[in-house]
Amino acid sequence: MTAPVIVWLRRDLRLADHAALTAAARIGPVLPVYVLDDHTPRHRRMGAASRWWLHHSLVSLDADLRKLGSRLILRRGKSHEVLAALRRETGARTVHALRHYEPWWRNAERAVGKALDLVLHDGNFLAPPGSVLTGAGQPYRIFTPFWRALVERMPPPPPLPVPQSLGAPTFWPESDRLDDWDLLPTKPDWAGGMRAEWTPGEGGARARLDAFVGKAARYAETRNLPTSEGTSRLSPHLHFGEISPATIWHATAAAGGSVDTFLGELGWRDYAQNVILQLPDYGHRNARPAYDQLGWRDAPDDLVAWQQGRTGYPIVDAGMRE
Ligand SMILES: Cc1cc2nc3c(=O)[nH]c(=O)nc-3n(C[C@H](O)[C@H](O)[C@H](O)COP(=O)(O)OP(=O)(O)OC[C@H]3O[C@@H](n4cnc5c(N)ncnc54)[C@H](O)[C@@H]3O)c2cc1C
Repeated sequence: MTAPVIVWLRRDLRLADHAALTAAARIGPVLPVYVLDDHTPRHRRMGAASRWWLHHSLVSLDADLRKLGSRLILRRGKSHEVLAALRRETGARTVHALRHYEPWWRNAERAVGKALDLVLHDGNFLAPPGSVLTGAGQPYRIFTPFWRALVERMPPPPPLPVPQSLGAPTFWPESDRLDDWDLLPTKPDWAGGMRAEWTPGEGGARARLDAFVGKAARYAETRNLPTSEGTSRLSPHLHFGEISPATIWHATAAAGGSVDTFLGELGWRDYAQNVILQLPDYGHRNARPAYDQLGWRDAPDDLVAWQQGRTGYPIVDAGMRE
């Protein structure tokens, strides 16, 4: 019996340009696994809207895997414990995964690495975070010089194709039922607006990209008009890794025209991840101490009004509701 290779899927819910999946497919039978791990990110675990998205993205990914003769195994718990259990059940010793940079994911990677052979690949950024450095080997703390240095290394490598097939393990270990995870809102079901606007999953991401490439050259101007559909709306697809930034870069650049402003926004995405890497407490501490002096109003009612799009300022409320 050949032991399968685990592909540990996280916020990289796609088959195309997925270096971990491609590498595993070359080695032997593949066991694609998604672990719903609410323990490791603790208070930063996914909120309700993200869970709605995740549910549909997992349905889409499983359907796409089945077309290749494979399927998605769902498990819940701490990542390293779940993967260690799968090792015991299936004999799988090696895990391939794309690298993620949030502190809790790096902790999880260390823990998984102690239980199994973990092979990490890049692919969720234009360049691996931490690799774009000044001449003195320091990280950049201002966008423009970071972007100039990143552009020197562009284009990113061409996207990897979807593997033509995935070898199935001799037997499939048990999977949770997705419906049992209760990711969708029911009481009340407030997701109607999201269902109307979005199609989570790799197919939906690709359709968004296809609809956008012809408009990318006008992005610099139209993105500023709230009444236009000037932006790509790829953000949640990128967040869940349903499409890679390299795929977006190549498709947009190939469309021609002046697309630098749009590509620069993909650069901002890389930049933000680099900032978080050098300042892991960026979520709750000012990067520049001068901002500690900022005098905030203590106005909880106003905050709630803003969060709910009920400030009475139409442009502010429209933006929040969108
Ligand atoms: C006029 C204007 C002002 C904006 N002001 C802010 C702001 O003050 N703070 C802020 O965080 N965002 C700001 N943004 C970014 C923007 O609001 C969000 O990134 C957007 O909601 C994502 O929608 P999209 O997927 O259609 O992005 P697009 O505009 O199509 O951009 C493509 C992708 O680039 C990345 N990207 C774009 N902008 C940013 C960014 N600022 N940081 C990191 N990655 C980015 C995202 O992954 C995005 O999906 C602004 C955008 C515009 C057009």
